[in-house]
Amino acid sequence: MHRGAALLALVCAACPPPPDLTPHARVRLEDGAAAPTDDPPPALAAPDAPQGVEVFELGPLAMTDGVSPEVLIDVDEQVRSFTLLVSAQPEAHVIVDRVLSPDGALVVDPDTPTDASRQARQLSRGFVGPLLSMNRMVPKRGGGAFIVPNTPDVALVPGTWRARVRQGVVGVGADGTFEQAPLDRSVRLTVLVDTRATPSRARLEVALHFTGASGITAASAANDPLVQQVTSTLGDTFDAVGVDAMVAGLFDVESGDALRTLTLAPDLCEDGDLATLLRALEPTRGAVDVVFVDRMRCLVRGATTLDGYAGLAAAIPGDVLHEGGAHGGVAVALDIVGDDAQTAAFTVAHELGHLLGLFHTMELVSGADLPIYDVISDTPDDPSFNANLMSAAPQPSTSLSDGQAFVLAVNPWLSASAE
Ligand SMILES: [Zn+2]
Repeated sequence: MHRGAALLALVCAACPPPPDLTPHARVRLEDGAAAPTDDPPPALAAPDAPQGVEVFELGPLAMTDGVSPEVLIDVDEQVRSFTLLVSAQPEAHVIVDRVLSPDGALVVDPDTPTDASRQARQLSRGFVGPLLSMNRMVPKRGGGAFIVPNTPDVALVPGTWRARVRQGVVGVGADGTFEQAPLDRSVRLTVLVDTRATPSRARLEVALHFTGASGITAASAANDPLVQQVTSTLGDTFDAVGVDAMVAGLFDVESGDALRTLTLAPDLCEDGDLATLLRALEPTRGAVDVVFVDRMRCLVRGATTLDGYAGLAAAIPGDVLHEGGAHGGVAVALDIVGDDAQTAAFTVAHELGHLLGLFHTMELVSGADLPIYDVISDTPDDPSFNANLMSAAPQPSTSLSDGQAFVLAVNPWLSASAE
């Protein structure tokens, strides 16, 4: 054996050099991923990332049967979260539908459980598995942001994580049920890796935008009782979980008159005028946007108009650190809540909770469907529990649990507060 080994060493003195051992990028595509051949969607504006949030542009990805190649993300002890930011064609819904931890846990599972309810199908627009996963994901149209972890119940184990993107076109079946058909148009992917130390207190900047609804303008806002109530409620709500929420500016929406009633995309009841409005806002670096409108309405199955929305977040979570995106803010309807400053303020805080990644503690259920609770284990799984900011029932509580505070803290939109 020794002779053989010596011979091998001798022979290998003449071998070619070993493969390139330069360290690979922290975030990369799986080997052999094919380049797309179609026209990719528009590139995302580079996220305005604070120091310590690493940005990896992976460019256009080819989709096969609606699924991207796998993305590999190396996580070490410094990493608090990673976020996949996807840009897609406007008609496509995208989602991160599979995330595999280095310890083998499938924290986002693409497969639909056999006992999934119609409610789960509707809430997920047909992407049921990710909705019911440990690290809950819901799709967004035209692109979205997907954060891991979005619950303290998922540990960000060091090692190589694997994730992929799925894309489909959502349609409504004859019985009103959402379905999605895979779409093989390329998408663009940017990955944010947050390596910042957890601060003792965090800061959330909020820009307030006025369409003229209820007669409030940027000039009148500072002395308006409703806006003052919003500011103080935001301060108190987030202060209780270690976040200093502060108003970064007051702005009039250009041609706001035309946008005081927002018409949302039919059936889906998202995007539409809300996306148009959010794209058109004055950019405020690092801040999330709150827009005050009169009303939001949505036509369902060509017959029923829903227009009782008090507030709406553009996405759960929103377009993290992506200035000028369609999902960078929330809207509050003053026709619905405006007489009551407390309700308006509570609604703003609740919608910002969604934008930062919080789901309802329990989704409103229809018929005999099983309840769908959030994925945070310290909020009670109890239909009567509503003493929480994220209760789906209108309940003016501003309370948040430690688990919910964790979700806010890992959102890259929050920065460290000045000590
Ligand atoms: Zn809500």
